[in-house]
Amino acid sequence: MAAEHVEIVEVGPRDGLQNEDRPLSVEEKVELIDRVAAAGARRIEAVSFVNPRRVPQMAGAEEVMAGLDRTFGASYIGLVLNRKGLDRALEAGVDEVNVAVPATDEFCRRNQGCSVAEMLAAYEDIAAAAAAAAMPVSVTVSTAFGCPFEGETAPERVVEIARRAAAAGAVEIAIADTIGVGVPRQVADLLPRVRETADGARLRCHFHNTRNTGYANALTAYENGATVLDSSVGGFGGCPFAPGATGNIATEDLVYMLQRSGVETGIGLDAMARTGTWLGSRLGKEPPALLGRAGGFPG
Ligand code: MG
Repeated sequence: MAAEHVEIVEVGPRDGLQNEDRPLSVEEKVELIDRVAAAGARRIEAVSFVNPRRVPQMAGAEEVMAGLDRTFGASYIGLVLNRKGLDRALEAGVDEVNVAVPATDEFCRRNQGCSVAEMLAAYEDIAAAAAAAAMPVSVTVSTAFGCPFEGETAPERVVEIARRAAAAGAVEIAIADTIGVGVPRQVADLLPRVRETADGARLRCHFHNTRNTGYANALTAYENGATVLDSSVGGFGGCPFAPGATGNIATEDLVYMLQRSGVETGIGLDAMARTGTWLGSRLGKEPPALLGRAGGFPG
């Protein structure tokens, strides 16, 4: 039997940090990214090219990119939401860009200042320019399982955005539970529909553990065709519209579950757990991740 494998996108340096009260310095961000790369992460959401006045935690993207140790062979991803962001990303030397397209209008307006239709048009503009520059683009469909303002998200909306994203050339579609409300049954229902519609794009999932369903959702996603999973070292990460949320699912806890289930990720458990503990010390917080406290098994 062929070895099972799932690819992890380490989102700690971006999604993990963007809502933290204590911003990390450029040097600390570079250290974080180099540490997760050294622990085996081969795709890392490293920076965001949004307006630093809106998200001060993400300031210094160019300096972070310039400071990285590129010898790990990792692919560094930058979040972009418009053409200006794409131009900055190309200039800064990222390996991939990711565009977030919410499934619900009110979230899109508050988070990105436009409607979903306008964001899709902006994405199509970014995708065309990225293709001309041979830059791979992925799309994250956020609020795919529920919206803090509109409530339930109709799966049809997620499927339609995934269709448009794939048609405009996204190499990967990430289905994101931005505020952590989804449950495994929803994941099992939605993923086959996205796969069918966005045929040809890799299927990726992004879960938050707000209500302790994140790991069950991730396993269900893997069992339903997701070949890429997002997670955040230490389990840090929040959403300004999900107050009190614990964070993304933690890379070390996810890798523990997968590894003990015979699914390879290429990530070193101990090194990643140590990085989660280190990041907690930088942020002045106990990591939501449990592996750093409990240790692996067998020890
Ligand atoms: Mg997120």
